[in-house]
Amino acid sequence: MTASPDKFTRQTLLEVQPLTANLFSLRVTRDTGFRFRAGQFARLGVTKADGSVAWRAYSMVSAPHDEYLDFFSIVVPGGEFTSELSRLGTGDELLIDRQAFGYLSLDRFVGGRDLWLLATGTGIAPFLSILQDFEAWERFESIKLVYSVREAKELAYLDLIAGLERRDYLAEHAGKLQFIPVVTREAHPGALRARITTLLETGELEAAAGLELSTEHSRIMLCGNPQMVDDTRAVLKQRDLQLSLSRRPGQVAVESYW
Ligand SMILES: Cc1cc2nc3c(=O)[nH]c(=O)nc-3n(C[C@H](O)[C@H](O)[C@H](O)COP(=O)(O)OP(=O)(O)OC[C@H]3O[C@@H](n4cnc5c(N)ncnc54)[C@H](O)[C@@H]3O)c2cc1C
Repeated sequence: MTASPDKFTRQTLLEVQPLTANLFSLRVTRDTGFRFRAGQFARLGVTKADGSVAWRAYSMVSAPHDEYLDFFSIVVPGGEFTSELSRLGTGDELLIDRQAFGYLSLDRFVGGRDLWLLATGTGIAPFLSILQDFEAWERFESIKLVYSVREAKELAYLDLIAGLERRDYLAEHAGKLQFIPVVTREAHPGALRARITTLLETGELEAAAGLELSTEHSRIMLCGNPQMVDDTRAVLKQRDLQLSLSRRPGQVAVESYW
């Protein structure tokens, strides 16, 4: 009898880039059999000093067509997984479950004209994957990327975001994306300064976007801090923007990171 293959593959870290004191990006080799939809997450494993493996969910930042996998991580002080992960460097090993998971992908939606991507912190990751893929650009007339952090230095991937519409394969869709940074704890030029829920309640977000939310046209994804996800869902529900389920397509899809 042959042994069943491992549930995971062993991959190699190609690059680790610190972004701030507690944020960094990782580039990892990709098993040729690893398939995912933009917006999904992988289960990553790090081997600890005692030989046991800690596993955590991580959204892909890179697009499904890329040959490597990119991830964006926080370092949680004393965190079981991130304390280990942040110690790794180029050439080190990372375990990756063979399967990708999650429902924060465009499959969740039927129709729609405007795509709203609302993230806090590292919750920007799945939206970077979605925006580096073709589908969102082909399906939607406009895309609003709202990225909320506490301090401006936490805004990561600004060059990637600014360069999206200059990529050859997206050039025909140039002008569709509007990036709306939100910095809650300090004034920052070009950024809004309030929680996403407040920005929705006051109408400031729609004013900045030059677009109204509507059940017919809006499709909205929320990712990151669970409090933001829950509170924003509640605000959207008051406006009849509902969670999208397979038995009842709606306007909202969410992912909480803890
Ligand atoms: C579907 C899914 C996708 C995820 N994708 C990512 C990702 O792309 N990047 C990423 O950094 N994390 C992501 N996470 C969170 C990640 O799985 C771990 O929680 C994180 O790596 C911390 O692990 P830890 O063992 O160090 O701390 P844990 O013991 O897991 O967490 C301790 C505490 O740290 C805080 N925390 C955890 N994750 C975050 C975070 N991302 N940002 C701010 N505070 C946090 C929470 O207060 C949590 O209670 C995702 C989680 C889920 C469920």
